[in-house]
Amino acid sequence: MKFNTALLHQNFDGDAATGSTLTPIYQSSAFSHGSAERLEAVFNNKAAGYAYTRISNPTIDAFERRISALEKGIGAVACSSGMAAVTMSLLNILQAGDEIIAGAGLFGGTIDLFGDLEAFGITTRFTDEVTAESVEGLITDKTKAVFTELIGNPKLNVVDIKSVAEVAHSHGVPLIIDSTTATPYLINPFDFGADIVVHSSSKYINGSGNAISGIIIDSGKFRWDTERYSGFKEYAKYGKFAYLAKLRNGLWRNVGCCLAPMNAYLNSIGLETLGLRMERLCSNALQLAEFLKTVPDMEVNYPALADNPYYGLVKEQFGGKGGTILTLRTGSKEKAFKLINGLKYACIATNIGDVRTLVIHPASTIYTHSTEQQKLSAGVYDDTIRISVGIEDADDLIEDFRQAIEKI
Ligand SMILES: *Cc1c(COP(=O)(O)O)cnc(C)c1O
Repeated sequence: MKFNTALLHQNFDGDAATGSTLTPIYQSSAFSHGSAERLEAVFNNKAAGYAYTRISNPTIDAFERRISALEKGIGAVACSSGMAAVTMSLLNILQAGDEIIAGAGLFGGTIDLFGDLEAFGITTRFTDEVTAESVEGLITDKTKAVFTELIGNPKLNVVDIKSVAEVAHSHGVPLIIDSTTATPYLINPFDFGADIVVHSSSKYINGSGNAISGIIIDSGKFRWDTERYSGFKEYAKYGKFAYLAKLRNGLWRNVGCCLAPMNAYLNSIGLETLGLRMERLCSNALQLAEFLKTVPDMEVNYPALADNPYYGLVKEQFGGKGGTILTLRTGSKEKAFKLINGLKYACIATNIGDVRTLVIHPASTIYTHSTEQQKLSAGVYDDTIRISVGIEDADDLIEDFRQAIEKI
């Protein structure tokens, strides 16, 4: 099956009980069973079925199965938000005293999270660029995970997954990829050696900006050495499902960061048009980037421009497509604000991956709590605006930016 067919038909054939073409919203907290024996079996994973929506639910299950198949994983766990997915993907393997290696150009919320984890004895060692060399230099026997975004938001740096995975694996450490900005349309990170993938499905997977959610997908390929990862001792019996079994039966269920059935339903609808949207979004982003490149005294950053330093990796990993985010350095904060205010179609909002074009001034919003050094590492300058391109007609978008730039 090719991508767009897979979005509709892979691991999914509607609701068996009714013939409904979509899995309905099972808006129920609990599921009753015919006998105490039956509920005992379901509760203890000895029989298929549902007991309680914090643990599993048919609408959420359908969403998880579809994403898992799309990313070529062995299973997925949906979460209440992308941040919950990032948090749970890591806490499932970490203990006090452990270290994470991560890119400094991460999503602001994730950087803040790594600060919060310090209180629990978990330290993050940041590197400006996640490369084989930088990871090799930072790994210690306390390192339990390498975490990176594939296309940094908003730095737009691209990580070479294969070489980073090789170094991590040579030290017995898994590579966790936040693939939110790349989406399964551009890449399946497991094909390049990643072990665990997380998405903020609030963004491209949902597509219309109508539900917050996240998801964790496991490749099932990483072998958890129970000496290094002592928490895995009692889960070793699950073989390649050890990570997912630990997550589902442990912290994820006990923290209670489950996805709401309604949001799983909205995501499943959004998912079906991911391919169509991404094709259009990537094409619009490239056209807009090419136009902005011609504007004097402004500097556009978009990975799929041929002179971008990451263009080689964009071709190798993403088939030449550069995603849907671009940044523009306008010359000053004042000009950045004027440009933003002069746009007719772009919404001034802190989100990405909507059908509509969104713009933001990151330094005064998402990075307002960051230090100067953190901002620099994230590619956030005082004159930077971030554009998350929408599915409007490219000509209209270009014309809108042209008139707004002319006004300043
Ligand atoms: C938005 C985002 C998150 C956080 O997701 P939420 O759904 O907002 O919690 C994490 N990583 C990246 C790359 C994001 O863009």
